[in-house]
Amino acid sequence: MSATIIDGKLISASARQQIAEETAAFTTESGVTPHLAAVLVGDDPASQVYVRNKERACEKCGLKSTLHRLSAETTQQQLMDLVAQLNADRTVHGILVQLPLPNHLDSTPVLDSIRPDKDVDGFHPENVGLMLQGRPRFLPCTPHGVMKMLEHENISTAGKHAVVIGRSDIVGKPMAGLLVQKGADATVTVCHSRTADIAAITRQADILVAAVGIPEFVKGDMIKPGAVVIDVGINRVNDKLVGDVEFAAAAEQASAITPVPGGVGPMTIAMLLRNTLEAAKQSV
Ligand code: NAP
Repeated sequence: MSATIIDGKLISASARQQIAEETAAFTTESGVTPHLAAVLVGDDPASQVYVRNKERACEKCGLKSTLHRLSAETTQQQLMDLVAQLNADRTVHGILVQLPLPNHLDSTPVLDSIRPDKDVDGFHPENVGLMLQGRPRFLPCTPHGVMKMLEHENISTAGKHAVVIGRSDIVGKPMAGLLVQKGADATVTVCHSRTADIAAITRQADILVAAVGIPEFVKGDMIKPGAVVIDVGINRVNDKLVGDVEFAAAAEQASAITPVPGGVGPMTIAMLLRNTLEAAKQSV
């Protein structure tokens, strides 16, 4: 294996340390404790783990978190009512609705109803628009985490060909949006399930971001020698977490690569805390 392993645990620990210090200073000065309200509908085991990790991270950094658990039978109206209540609660600075929601619920109106200044996931159309125009209020947590990792590793994106596999609103599209911003200055190609000859495109990538949701979708021979490979995927296979990249084969080709677990995942949580702190600061 020749690639440098980009250690998301280590990088996120230093980001969290900084957030903890800033939170302590802000709370002392303003008397306000940044407060994240998380909403979990149903009992999807992976979502429960994600929410618990987010709560723990808040606690460790001096932020308050409150978990609102709703049953799997919750109606759209009940969920919207809870969001309205959290929107109106002046002690809540950030609202997070854990996805995916049970099938009978439509996430779009729910996410649209979160007050944009409490939308710490950065999914609200207003915040997506601001991000795309290069004047962000909150950056979406996972793509922001990826950018922070690249920055930490001194990997410049300027003038590089970045290929993003996946065009979801949560990862793929905002990832491409951040990479193409002035300052990041990458040339970006976005691939998806209808892309023809995807390997021919990924082999041109200086920076390859995989956000597909298919275990080990990216094979070693799809990677240009020396490329930087960012694996966003989190897939559960036989009780093991596996990324979207075939790690061992990819590490033979890449110059740097993120592992799963311990890569992008911890960065996503750190960026959520950052956004919650910023939301609290903006509220005073
Ligand atoms: P998603 O909404 O399912 O989107 C997957 C994307 O991959 C879609 O755009 C889809 O294309 C594309 N795709 C599917 N099959 C493909 C194929 N055969 N060839 C090329 N593209 C294909 O998933 P997501 O929410 O973006 O998440 C992606 C992965 O990241 C998942 O494993 C998820 O668990 C993980 N994730 C991790 C974090 C983290 O913090 N590390 C955060 C969020 C998500 P179409 O649009 O054409 O269908």
